Amino acid sequence: MSTRTPFIAGNWKLNLSGEEGIALVQALAKPAAVSRAEVAVFPTALALQAVAKAAAGSRIGVGGQNCHWEEKGAFTGEVSASLLKAAGARYVILGHSERRQFFGETDQTVNRKLTAVLAQGLVPIVCIGETLAERDGGKLEEVLSRQVRGACAGLSATQLGTLVIAYEPIWAIGTGRTATTQQAQDAHAFVRSQVHALFGGLADRVRIQYGGSVKPDNAKELLAQPDVDGALVGGASLKAGDFGAIIAAA
Ligand code: PEP
Repeated sequence: MSTRTPFIAGNWKLNLSGEEGIALVQALAKPAAVSRAEVAVFPTALALQAVAKAAAGSRIGVGGQNCHWEEKGAFTGEVSASLLKAAGARYVILGHSERRQFFGETDQTVNRKLTAVLAQGLVPIVCIGETLAERDGGKLEEVLSRQVRGACAGLSATQLGTLVIAYEPIWAIGTGRTATTQQAQDAHAFVRSQVHALFGGLADRVRIQYGGSVKPDNAKELLAQPDVDGALVGGASLKAGDFGAIIAAA
C-alpha cells in the first residue's frame, strides 16, 4: 500500500439542489465504516455554499466542478476560483471529459484554469482519459501524455505540489463499463511515469484517481492497485449508501 492518502471524490454534475445536497452530506457525515480516505463532494456552483456550510467540521470537503481562469470581468455565466474559495470550496475539478466534449474545454484552457486554481491555494483534480476509438487505435499513451503535458505546461513541481489527476477512460464514464483493474493500473502507472519525466519526485506524491462507473462492488479491487490512489465517482456519489461503501472500500 502506498503512503499516499486515498482520495474519494463525488462529482454530482448537474444534480441535487442545495437542500438535497445538504441531506446527502449529512447522511455521509454520520460515523460510518472506518476509512483513511480523504473525501470531497462537488455540488453545482449554486449549491456549493450551502453544502460547504453543512459539511463544515465534518470529514467531507467541498469543491467546484469547473471554474474560469480569470478572477473577474466580462465573462457572462462563469465563476472564478476565488469565488469558489470564498463560497467554501477547497478543490476544483478541471477538464472533465463532459466539459471537453460539450463545452469546448481544451488542454490549453485546462492549463489556464489550473494556474488560476493553484494561485488560490485550491486543490485541483485534472481529468484526463481516452475515447474508445483512441484506445482501440493504439493511441492511449499519446493521448494521456498530451493531456498531462498540456495541463501542466509552464508550471513547476513546486506550484503543482497538491496536484490530483483523475484518469477517466471516457468509454467507462456513466456507461456501467469499468476498466479492468489491469487496464486501470497500467494507465495509472503510465501517467505517473509521465509526471516523473516532467517533474521528478512530484510523481511519488501526486494522487491519481480512477474514474468511470466506480461502484461499491468494484471499488475495492480498483483501489487495491498500487498506482490507484482513489476514485472520482459520478453516478454512485448521488446515493449515501453507495458512496459511503466506496469510501469504506478505501
Ligand atoms: C465522472 O463523471 O467523473 C464519472 C466517473 O461518472 P460515473 O461514475 O457515473 O461513471
